Amino acid sequence: MNRGRVFSGARPTGRQHLGNYLGAIQNYVSLQEAYECIYCIVDIHALTTLEDTDRLQENIHEMMLDWLAAGLDPQKSILFVQSDVPEVMELYTLLGMLTPLGWLTRVPTFKEKARMQPHNINYGLVGYPVLMTADIALYRADTIPVGEDQLPHLELAREIMRRFNHLFGETFPEPRAKLTQFPLVLGLDGARKMSKSYNNYIELAASPEETLKRVMTAVTDPARRYRSDPGRPEVCNVYSLHHFFTAPRLDEIASQCRAAEIGCVDCKKLLAQGINAALEPFRHRRAELAARPQHVVEVLNDGARRAQAIAAQTLAEVKERMGLMPGAAR
Ligand code: SF4
Repeated sequence: MNRGRVFSGARPTGRQHLGNYLGAIQNYVSLQEAYECIYCIVDIHALTTLEDTDRLQENIHEMMLDWLAAGLDPQKSILFVQSDVPEVMELYTLLGMLTPLGWLTRVPTFKEKARMQPHNINYGLVGYPVLMTADIALYRADTIPVGEDQLPHLELAREIMRRFNHLFGETFPEPRAKLTQFPLVLGLDGARKMSKSYNNYIELAASPEETLKRVMTAVTDPARRYRSDPGRPEVCNVYSLHHFFTAPRLDEIASQCRAAEIGCVDCKKLLAQGINAALEPFRHRRAELAARPQHVVEVLNDGARRAQAIAAQTLAEVKERMGLMPGAAR
């Protein structure tokens, strides 16, 4: 079977939360069965917005523990850290030579990031899509899992690769989007996407007690002020989270809420129980992995070695096509 090659990268954000799991990691795990997958922790990308790198290595380690415990399998996928394969920087530079600046400055995320960190509009921020293109092109990935909002980024990567192919000959397969309907997982504030930046998250690796404590802080139906008030599950984020963790009881919870037969405290306890039950096997595996820190190092080293074998071949071909012939007699 000629399986396509998937590439996806994620920033080293440390311990993962429910939003990461439901929105990306679950999908990564299932893609392993049908594709040759390359998953990368993109530490160089992180430097475009990170000012403090003290915890970078710890974050990489913790994130990889979560990935492995969630079912990413180094026997099936290549798992590695972006900077461990330095060829990506060389390809990034080379692709930068053929990417018009205008393509980059009109990218909406660049404008947004520039607005968010006006004191640090660095060169890397503008070049971000070129580095992303280099990530995909280096491994000649042909399938990229994306949500609808990321389609413009992928289109830009395709344009850069098309330009290279046009100028220097067919080298890169144009990657196709593998559109995935990622569920929108709101944070405990019920207003914004679950994210570490908003401190509205529940970590996958949290203890059952911590999970309960976090769930208890969740915003519910704001119109339900007293236990005797009927609630509106359709506007309550606790109810949305029940979809993922207590699905067989959804109808029952909704009708009890509308009839004020269940209070929000009990409803949250039910949700915390559901989350804890669903994550119990994950947490068990994670604890086992955490007891062997060398294992993560070995997985990442092996992943980097396998990724580099592909990268070196691509880069040699790119340089030759561009007329760069290291060691040539001149
Ligand atoms: Fe939300 Fe549950 Fe309270 Fe209803 S009972 S408002 S679904 S937390």
